[in-house]
Amino acid sequence: MTDLSELLDARNHHISNSLSIGHGKPLHIVKGEMQYLYSSDGTRFLDLVNNVCHVGHCHPKVVAAGQKQMEILSTNTRYIYDGLTDYVSRLASTLPDGLDVGFMVNSGSEANELAIRLARAHTGNHDMLVADGGYHGNTSMLVQLSPYKFLGPGGKGVSEPWVHVVPVPDEYRRAGVDYEQEMQEVISDAGNVAGFLIEPMLSCAGQIPLPDGYLKLAKTYTKEAGGLLIVDEVQVGFGRFGTHMWAFESQDVVPDIVVLGKSIGNGHPMAAVFTTKEIASSLGEMEWFSSTGGNPVSCAIGNAVMDVIEDEDLQEQAKEHGEYFLSGLCKLKESCPVIGDVRGRGLFIGIEFVHDRITLEPNAEEAERVVREMRDLGILLSTDGPHHNVIKIKPPMVLTRHDIDMTLECLNGVLSRNGD
Ligand code: PMP
Repeated sequence: MTDLSELLDARNHHISNSLSIGHGKPLHIVKGEMQYLYSSDGTRFLDLVNNVCHVGHCHPKVVAAGQKQMEILSTNTRYIYDGLTDYVSRLASTLPDGLDVGFMVNSGSEANELAIRLARAHTGNHDMLVADGGYHGNTSMLVQLSPYKFLGPGGKGVSEPWVHVVPVPDEYRRAGVDYEQEMQEVISDAGNVAGFLIEPMLSCAGQIPLPDGYLKLAKTYTKEAGGLLIVDEVQVGFGRFGTHMWAFESQDVVPDIVVLGKSIGNGHPMAAVFTTKEIASSLGEMEWFSSTGGNPVSCAIGNAVMDVIEDEDLQEQAKEHGEYFLSGLCKLKESCPVIGDVRGRGLFIGIEFVHDRITLEPNAEEAERVVREMRDLGILLSTDGPHHNVIKIKPPMVLTRHDIDMTLECLNGVLSRNGD
C-alpha cells in the first residue's frame, strides 16, 4: 500500500487545491463497511456524516446487484430493458400521483440543471428563486444559484440578475420574523419566475427544518409569479426524514419537480428528476439524452438500495433512532451553554454552537474543536452553515442505538473538558 506522505505528494501535484480534505486531517481510508470506515492503520471510524452511503458503506446486497449486472449488460437508455422501466416505475410509485415521469442522470448537479431547464422550458420564464445558504451543485449555473457558494469563501455575491435569494426561515437565529411576507416580497420583486429551487429541509444553510406549511406557501407564491416548485431531495430523501419517504411530504404540498440524488445509488453516481408528463414534454422536439444515466448497472444498484430500505425498515429506524439521538443531544444541551440549538428530523440533525445564548454569536471554533476531538476518538462529524458553527449529523441509516450511545458519551466528555 502506498504510504500517506506519498499519496499526499501525488495529491498536491495532481489534484486541484480547490478540493479540501475532510475532518481537518488527512485520513487514509482503505475500507468501508456499513456505518464504519477503516483507515490504513486499522482504526475504525464511525461515520456520522456520509448520507451518500445511505444503506451502509458497501452494503453486500447493493454490491452484489451491481456486480451481477456488470457481468450481464451495461448499455444506454435508447435500448429497451426491464431494469430501467422497473426501477423508474418503482421510484414513481413512492411519489405522489402525477409525478410519473423520471429522467435518470449521474449526479445531483446534473439533475438540478435538468430541473431548471424543464422549468424554464415549461414556463417560458428565466428567473430563479433559491433559499439563502443553499447549495445545489457544482456546475457554473448552479454555483450562480447557490448562495452557499457565491456568498461563501471565494464567492463574489449575486452575479446574475435572474437569481433571487429568499431569506432562510430559521426559527432559531431569526425567530419572530414573518417568513411568509419575506418570501412574498422577494417573489413579487422577481417578476417572471421559472421556478423556486429549495430543499425540503435545509442542509448547507445549517441543518434547518422548514416551518410547517412553508413549501405550500412557496408553491402558491411561485405559481402566482408564473413558476414551478422544484424540491431538491438530494440530501434528505429516501426515508432519512423518518416520518416520510420524501421530506416534502411533511409539508402538505406536491412539488412540480422533485430532484433525487446522493443516497439513490449508495455511492454509485446516480440521480433522478421526477415530474409530470406535461412538464416532462416541455423540451419539445429537442432530444434529451444521458450516455450513462439510467444504465442497467445503475438501475440494478438503485433497485437494490430500495430493497434494502424496505427490507431493513430503514425509514422507521431513521425515525426511532433520530428521536433517540435528538433527545440525548437535547439533554446534553442543558449542561453545555455553548450548544445554542439542537434540531432535526429523522437522521438529519444539527447542533448549533454559540458563544452566548442571548446574542447567538456563532462559535465556529468550539464546533471545530468538537469535530477534531471526536475524530480523534474515532467518530467522524463535520460543520456546516454560513457561520460554520453547526455540527451536522447525517449518518448511514444503519446506525445503531449503541453507536448513538457511544457518540453521546464521547460528546459529553469532549464538551465537558473545554466548554466555555
Ligand atoms: N443538491 C444538494 C442539496 C446537495 O447537497 C448537493 C451535493 N452536496 C447537490 C445538489 C449536488 O449533487 P452532486 O454533488 O451529486 O452533483
